Amino acid sequence: MNPNRTPILAGNWKMYKTAAEAVAVVTELKAEVAGITKAECVICPPFTALPALSAVVAGSNVQLGAQNVHWEKEGAFTGEISVGMLKEFGVRYPVVGHSERRQFFGETDAGVNKRAKAALAAGMRPIVCVGEMLAEREAGKTQDVVRTQVTGSLAGLSKDDMVTTVIAYEPVWAIGTGKTASPEQAQEVHAFIRSLLVSLFDAATAAKVRIQYGGSVKPDNAKLLLSQPDVDGALVGGASLKAKDFAAIVKAAV
Ligand code: PEP
Repeated sequence: MNPNRTPILAGNWKMYKTAAEAVAVVTELKAEVAGITKAECVICPPFTALPALSAVVAGSNVQLGAQNVHWEKEGAFTGEISVGMLKEFGVRYPVVGHSERRQFFGETDAGVNKRAKAALAAGMRPIVCVGEMLAEREAGKTQDVVRTQVTGSLAGLSKDDMVTTVIAYEPVWAIGTGKTASPEQAQEVHAFIRSLLVSLFDAATAAKVRIQYGGSVKPDNAKLLLSQPDVDGALVGGASLKAKDFAAIVKAAV
């Protein structure tokens, strides 16, 4: 972490939890993280939990995210969700381009780019996910893959947009597998992403962008990962489903 960037910890709940279950977890979480001002704590629940959670998080330091957002304001796009629908419930951080969306639902860098731009235009802060598959890492292609994803997903953003955007580096082989990238592996790619941002934008912009690590982050490995200079937080799946575990990860960042 770097003292000039506020760490951001986001819980991606994927397709877990009914609205009632979500309320119970976030009620516990907001008590656990009350008073934490040096890190941002975000929950990205299923869309169906957003109305209830918007009331639960009001006045607390838990913020709401979402797991996707579409680029059109409205229309015949079955199964999609618009910026207006998310903003109605106070969503600030929509995740775009999660590897599960890329792998199982055919999302591309061009589409991720449109989603990110729509979120930014609506005053939200997208969390743009990138990361290589195991075979790509083993073939020595990590940097090529990440370069293509970063360049494509962030194409056409202004410097101000870039500073507002969060990048999540999530090696696909580490997501939900219990295999975490070592702190050194994470730092190496995070530093690479920041160097890409220097060439795509400029050094001052790159220095402000927060880059989260994601992939089997747990209470017992969070501190070491977060201690890396270019790791500015975490995108957490499994361990964010339990209030105490996610709170421990948030506390590891302060
Ligand atoms: C994720 O869903 O983005 C993720 C990193 O999951 P997990 O923490 O379970 O690996």
